[in-house]
Amino acid sequence: MASRRQIFVGGVPIGGGAPVAVQTMTKTETANLEATMEQILRVADAGADLVRVAVPRDEDAVALRTIVARSPIPVIADIHFNHTLALKAIDAGAHCIRLNPGNIGGREKVAEVAARATQAGVPMRIGVNSGSLPKHLHALERQDPVEALVTAAVEFVEMMESLDFENFKVSIKSTNVPNTIAANRLLSERIPYPIHLGITEAGTKWSGSLKSAVGLGTLLADGVGDTVRISLSTFHAEEEVKVAWEILKALHIRERGPVLIACPTCGRLQFDMDSVVAEIEARLEAYTEPIEVAVLGCAVNGIGEASHADFGITGAKNEGLIFAHGKPLRKVPQDELVDALFSEIDRSLDRGAVEVDDTEAAVGAEWLAKIEEENAGELTPERIAQMEAEKAREEGNDVTAEPFLKPVKRGPRPALDEQASPTAGRRFTRA
Ligand code: SF4
Repeated sequence: MASRRQIFVGGVPIGGGAPVAVQTMTKTETANLEATMEQILRVADAGADLVRVAVPRDEDAVALRTIVARSPIPVIADIHFNHTLALKAIDAGAHCIRLNPGNIGGREKVAEVAARATQAGVPMRIGVNSGSLPKHLHALERQDPVEALVTAAVEFVEMMESLDFENFKVSIKSTNVPNTIAANRLLSERIPYPIHLGITEAGTKWSGSLKSAVGLGTLLADGVGDTVRISLSTFHAEEEVKVAWEILKALHIRERGPVLIACPTCGRLQFDMDSVVAEIEARLEAYTEPIEVAVLGCAVNGIGEASHADFGITGAKNEGLIFAHGKPLRKVPQDELVDALFSEIDRSLDRGAVEVDDTEAAVGAEWLAKIEEENAGELTPERIAQMEAEKAREEGNDVTAEPFLKPVKRGPRPALDEQASPTAGRRFTRA
């Protein structure tokens, strides 16, 4: 169930029907202004609506004032154990304070932070983690971990309400994906406040992205969740933002930048599609336009399956075809396919329309028709899917699905240098 309440973190609405906000957390030492600001700019470029920074020391709270002033997106201060840091973060202008009322030192200290936040008009994120439930819920946790998580969250909500503070969102986080799904579903039925979604310590870029896609994707598809943070073991926070956007784009909840579609390849593949798709994906990162680009591993099926794409290529042994909106544009040598695709994309974006050379398009169409004819009897994955779709249509099932939200345009994205660590030189031990 979607949350009924809405809060504002800086100018970003959370909950109450607002678009699901993407957030991440910097990995730098917050007091290292140069490194922290560089990372904030990178995550903002990647599409983060909000950014959280850790405030474990006084110098981080001091740096926060400058960070808030320079950041292009609202800044959330992440506080644990020390309520005076929460007070300092509010005074420094943080747009939101994240704290766990269970580890801040008791109700009086939570009340002090809530009073200062009310005065400053600053919202809070209150949350529970499966690893730090209050003692009185440990027995329940052993019997029913989901109920224990939700009970803890509801108790914190009631505590905040009893302090006359209702300007907050709530998070329940667990490393266990099924428990995260069940707990957030239940929580959304019990409270009207916005919900922050995340899988704690999800893992590496590969496993963490998958766990997050399963857990958060399931909840978002149900309409549960108002802001998301993907937690990945990488120093490059913008990678978390990219994963969050892919989940939102896959569900058609929000749109941003190009969508790449590619066939899974099979025994009919006649060129090095792996590296071609990787190159196209990397080059598409520079584009903000919501174009759909298709890559087909062979021309056996024509371009029927990818005819909805704005642009695409279909390869063969020595040559391939560039197409746009289901129509051939031109045939090019295999090793020029990617450059030719991007020159068509660029030219079309510049002119506002696809330019078709009738002679070249006819040569391309003839080449395609010949390959299709030669392979007319092949039962390719696409043809099997088409046969299944036709059968479903005959039986009266609707097999079409239309996107229902308009795309959002943003600024250019910087390329990621995997070799460069944004936390280089960072002090990893506390003095
Ligand atoms: S038959 Fe389909 S899956 Fe196989 S290479 Fe061709 S387009 Fe890709």
